[in-house]
Amino acid sequence: MRRNILIIMAAALGLLVHPGGDALAGPARENARNQASPTQAAKPGAPREAAPFVVVIDPGHGGRDAGSRGALLVEKDFALRAAGMLAALLARRPEVKAILTREADTEMTAVQRASVANYNAAALFLTLHADASWRPGARGPSIVVAAPRRPPRVAGEAARAVAFRWQRSQNIHLASNRRFALNLQRRFAAIRANEKPPVHILAVRDLEGARMPAAYVSLGVISTPEDEARLSEIAEEDPYLTALARAVLKFAGLTEDLPPKPPTPEETTPPESSQAPESPGQPESPALSESSETEAAPSESPRPEPDASEAQDAAPPGEGR
Ligand SMILES: [Zn+2]
Repeated sequence: MRRNILIIMAAALGLLVHPGGDALAGPARENARNQASPTQAAKPGAPREAAPFVVVIDPGHGGRDAGSRGALLVEKDFALRAAGMLAALLARRPEVKAILTREADTEMTAVQRASVANYNAAALFLTLHADASWRPGARGPSIVVAAPRRPPRVAGEAARAVAFRWQRSQNIHLASNRRFALNLQRRFAAIRANEKPPVHILAVRDLEGARMPAAYVSLGVISTPEDEARLSEIAEEDPYLTALARAVLKFAGLTEDLPPKPPTPEETTPPESSQAPESPGQPESPALSESSETEAAPSESPRPEPDASEAQDAAPPGEGR
C-alpha cells in the first residue's frame, strides 16, 4: 500500500516535472553556468568565486572487463592512460575541475560510473574508449551520444520506479549532447585529412544514468595496427586529446587556451622550481581556435543506425544496468 502511494507520487512528479524540464532544464542550467563562468567575471582583480566547471572523465572498462584488444594494447589500460592525460590537460585551467571515475584497474558498473558524475554534480560526463572494429582498415575516432529513451517495456511497479529515476536522464540533454558532439567532430576532422569521425546516436549503457550532457568518445580503432600505433604513443599533447580538451572548454563557455604543461617534480631542477608558472590570462592563440564557429549548421546529421562493432562495444552484454 505504502509502496503504491510512493509510486503514484513518483509518477505524478514525473508528469509535473517532465514537460517543463524538456524545454528548460538543459539550456537554462547551461546559461546559468556560463553567466557564472570566471572568464566573464566583471572585475579583473576580484577573487575567483565562481564554481569550477566539473567534468567527469570515465576511463572505459577496467578490472575483468578489459574491453577491446589490439596486438599490443588493451583498451582498459589505454582508456585509463588517456583519461589521466585529458584530466591533466584540463587541470591547466583553474576554471575546470576534472574528476576520474577510476584511477586504477578497477571494475565498475555503468551505474557506478554515472553515479560519480551525478554525485559530483558534473556539468559534462565523458567516457573514453578505443573501439575495435570488424572492418579491416577502420580507423579514426568516433563519438556516441545517447539516443532518446522511452519508458521500458518491462512490466511491474519496480520497472516504473527505475524508469523514473534513470531511463530518461539523458532525454533532456539531447540538444546539448548534439552540440558537444558536432563541435568535437569538427575538431577531430581537422586533425587528419579525409577523416571525419562519425557521430552515432545509440542507447549506450555507460551514458544513460548520467544526469548531465554526456558523450562516449572512442579515440581510435584499437584493432587496426595504424591506429593502435598512434594510440600506443599517446601523450598529453596528443592532437586528439587537445581537441577533446578544447571541446570541453568551448562547451563550458570558456576560452580555449591550454597553457603549457606545468613542470612536474621530476622534470624540475631546484633553481627552476622557484619560478612562477605562466599567467593563466595569457592567451596562446591556439591553431585549433574556433571562436567564430557556427554550431547551428552541421553539414551532416548523425547516423541513426548503429554500426555493429560500435554497438557491441557501446553496450557490452552481461553488464549491470
Ligand atoms: Zn570500450
